[in-house]
Amino acid sequence: MTPELTHFVGGKLVPGTSGRFADVSDPSTGAVQARVPLASAAEVTAVVDAAAEAQREWARWNPQRRARVLMKFLDLVRADEDRLARLLSSEHGKTVADARGDIQRGLEVVEFAVGIPHLLKGEFSDSAGTGIDVYSMRQPLGVVAGITPFNFPAMIPLWKAAPAIACGNAFVLKPSERDPSVPLRLAELFGEAGLPPGVFSVVNGDKEAVDTLLVDPRVEALGFVGSSDIAQYVYEQAAAHGKRAQCFGGAKNHMIVMPDADLDQAVEALIGAGYGSAGERCMAITVAVPVGEATADALVERLAKRVRGLKVGASLDESVDFGPLVSAAAVQRVRDYLDIGIAEGAELVVDGRDLTVPGHENGFFLGGCLFDRVRPEMRIYREEIFGPVLCIARAADYEEALRLPSEHEYGNGVAIFTRDGDTARDFTARVNTGMVGVNVPIPVPIAYHTFGGWKRSGFGDLNQHGPDSVRFYTKTKTVTSRWPSGAKESASFVMPTMA
Ligand code: NAD
Repeated sequence: MTPELTHFVGGKLVPGTSGRFADVSDPSTGAVQARVPLASAAEVTAVVDAAAEAQREWARWNPQRRARVLMKFLDLVRADEDRLARLLSSEHGKTVADARGDIQRGLEVVEFAVGIPHLLKGEFSDSAGTGIDVYSMRQPLGVVAGITPFNFPAMIPLWKAAPAIACGNAFVLKPSERDPSVPLRLAELFGEAGLPPGVFSVVNGDKEAVDTLLVDPRVEALGFVGSSDIAQYVYEQAAAHGKRAQCFGGAKNHMIVMPDADLDQAVEALIGAGYGSAGERCMAITVAVPVGEATADALVERLAKRVRGLKVGASLDESVDFGPLVSAAAVQRVRDYLDIGIAEGAELVVDGRDLTVPGHENGFFLGGCLFDRVRPEMRIYREEIFGPVLCIARAADYEEALRLPSEHEYGNGVAIFTRDGDTARDFTARVNTGMVGVNVPIPVPIAYHTFGGWKRSGFGDLNQHGPDSVRFYTKTKTVTSRWPSGAKESASFVMPTMA
């Protein structure tokens, strides 16, 4: 019997009742290891009922008391980290070491959220007028929801839930149906940490669940992370239903390699950032842009050797560089892009399609692939491939290299490798992209700064985590107050001013 996963509602694991399920695979073997229930609209509504009820009391807890639950949660996740990392790896396919990074980057935002009481303090103007004080309060929104992708099943739910909860909201998570077990386990740990039932819920599902959250008037804000077309759909629907939304989408992250870059550094950076997690990261480097033919030739020669030597295997095998892709469909999608790239005239310098992993013949594996001479008009340049495929787009000079990421429709991350501070400074100032690395290939900002891409990589005006998350998950109330005694003024028909 295939194990059946659940939802997490009212502080408990609850079986699905819709009768609809999706398969959860073990990507290393290709076998179905569990079935996840796909919630009906009625089930989602019941989750929102429980969340709305719990939120009223949660918002009355003082901020520091709320933060203490998160402190306890941090300890519990750390104590459970080995088990969580293996669980994550077995459903996603990333290595256990990489799964630990997924959990750790999530916990760093929980650590940030423990300090959120400091950011909930409002502003105060003493004597803004005669005897008049003006102050603002940050109040929770109520029920908020997060819809998250398969590729960071611990980190992204925590990026959203921890600030939302610390601000006094109830949070409903609709995780990816491809790897739902880690979110369910995190929900249990929130409960063990003392979070009241209903403040954090997990509702598993697909479009039906998302559409129900989009129209429920009690859901005040939606945070989405996933592919761009769906990010845009969620953003538009949320706005049409009067909700706040921040929706993060796909990416095509470039790394510029200047002629003066340390080539050994650049090659190692590209190998890690291009092929780590089989390229299934929104901040993966997918386009390397060497400047000048000599730089390009040297870079391609060294990269090709390294890509051919990459070790690919089962995700629980500690000796591998990266594991399988998440699903058979994901492998097919990447294979289709390889065919498209060849047909478009790009040069496939390293072809990873023939890879077999002994003992895991049905796993969703693909070896590292390297395309050279990729041009901006090609689909493999314009579209997100989301696999272990690095494209080399040669640029004649710095200005052309700067134009490529700046004019691309995605604008998540970008990096430049150079030894020249002047070039780096010019690049960081002018490039049209949300997050920039200087000699850093994956510039994911730390928890107390904010994360967000530009253009089709991000819809909405506030980023994830950092101070923006407090702005997103609270509304500002501004109070003007005075306590006059004695003589009352007569009615004034003139607009009050601070003259
Ligand atoms: P996806 O868009 O397929 O799914 C994301 C979420 O949307 C899931 O919870 C899914 O169940 C739901 N969903 C799927 N189809 C839907 C529909 N038609 N209507 C409503 N909801 C729907 O994305 P994925 O494959 O899980 O994740 C990979 C994508 O996420 C890549 O494009 C990657 O770049 C992106 N991503 C972006 C960031 C970022 O911060 N910008 C971070 C991680 C991943």
